[in-house]
Amino acid sequence: MHKRLFIPGPVDVREDVLQKMATPQIGHRTPECTELQRSISEKLQQLMYTKNDIILSTSSGSGLMEMAVRSLTKKRAAVFSVGAFGDRWYKMCTSNAIPADKFKSEIGNPTTPEMVEEALSTGKYDVVTVTHNETSTGVMNPLDDIAKVVAKYPDVCFCLDTVSSLGGTKIPVDEWGVDMCVASTQKCLGLPAGLSVASVSEKAYQRALTVENRGLYFDLVSVVDKARKSYQYPSTPALPHMFALDYQLSYILEEEGLENRFARHLEMAQFTRDWAKKHFAMLAEERYASNTLTTISNTLGNSVADLNKELAKHGFMISNGYGDYKEKTFRIAHMADTKMETLKELLALIEDIWNLNK
Ligand SMILES: *Cc1c(COP(=O)(O)O)cnc(C)c1O
Repeated sequence: MHKRLFIPGPVDVREDVLQKMATPQIGHRTPECTELQRSISEKLQQLMYTKNDIILSTSSGSGLMEMAVRSLTKKRAAVFSVGAFGDRWYKMCTSNAIPADKFKSEIGNPTTPEMVEEALSTGKYDVVTVTHNETSTGVMNPLDDIAKVVAKYPDVCFCLDTVSSLGGTKIPVDEWGVDMCVASTQKCLGLPAGLSVASVSEKAYQRALTVENRGLYFDLVSVVDKARKSYQYPSTPALPHMFALDYQLSYILEEEGLENRFARHLEMAQFTRDWAKKHFAMLAEERYASNTLTTISNTLGNSVADLNKELAKHGFMISNGYGDYKEKTFRIAHMADTKMETLKELLALIEDIWNLNK
C-alpha cells in the first residue's frame, strides 16, 4: 500500500507529474534540450524572484551546496548552523580543505543578524552560508534581517540553503542579495529526488573564476558557462526530472499561482502549530517556526517509532526527530502539493492512536 508521506522529503508526487517523467528521451545537445532548460530557467527565475542565472544539477541539493563553498571560498567561509543541515555545510568545507568557522545556535533557535554582524565585521570571511529553513529543528531563519547585515559586506558571497523551502514560501533572491541560492526537487517543489537547482549571481561567477581547484563535476564556472552559452549542462542531465520540473513549474506559476501556493503552506503550518501547542509543544519559537514543516517536542514521551507503525496501517508516514532527537521530537511536513484535508486526516489519526482527546 502506498503511504502518504508527511516526511520532509521525499514528498508525495502527483500522478500527472510522475507521468511526465516517462516522456521519451531527447538528445542532450539538441535544440529541444536547450528549449527545455531555457523554459525551466525562466520559470525558476520567477519562482526565485531573481534575474540571476539559473543552473541545474543532476544531484540532490547537497551537490550544489558543496559547489557553492568549493567554488566561492578564497579566504574563509562563515558557516551559520541551526541544526543538521548547517552542520553538513561545515563538513563540506572541512572535507574539501576549505578554511571555515562554524557559528552554531542552540537547538531550536535561529541564526540572528547580530551573530552574522559579529562574524562578518572581523573581515575574515569572503563567504557566508545560511540555512533558510532547517529541516531538523523546524526553524525558519529571519532572512529579511540577516540579508540586511550581509548586504553591508559587498566582498562576501552570500550562499543560502532553501532546499526545504523553495516552492513553499517566498524566497526573494534579488531583494535578499543572495549570490547562490540552492534547492532540491524532492521537497516543496513536489518532484522525486535527483535534481537540484540554484541561482548564481554575476558576483559569484566572477569570484569562482579566481578560485583554484574547483573540481570538475561541481565546478560552478563550467556549469554556468554551459547554461549561458546554450542552456545546456556539461554532462548528461536527468532528463526525466527536467520534463517533470518544467511541467510542475507551469503548474505552480500558472495553475495554482505563487500567492495561493505560499498561502496554502502557511495555512497548513498554522493549523499544525495550533495542533502541536494543544497537545504537545513546538521545538522552535513560534516567530521562527517553519512554514513547510513543524518539529514537535514529544512531551508525552510516547514511542514515535510505534506511532509510525500504526500510521502505516492507515497509509500514512511521518518523520521521527533528527539524529539525537529521534524520539524526543517528531516532524510533520506540510509541503509541496499536500492538501489541508489530508493533513487534518493525519492529525486526527494521531489523536486517535495516541488517545489525545481522552
Ligand atoms: C534535505 C535537505 C538538504 C539535503 O538535500 P539533498 O537534496 O538531500 O541533498 C539540505 N538542506 C536542507 C535544509 C534540507 O532539508
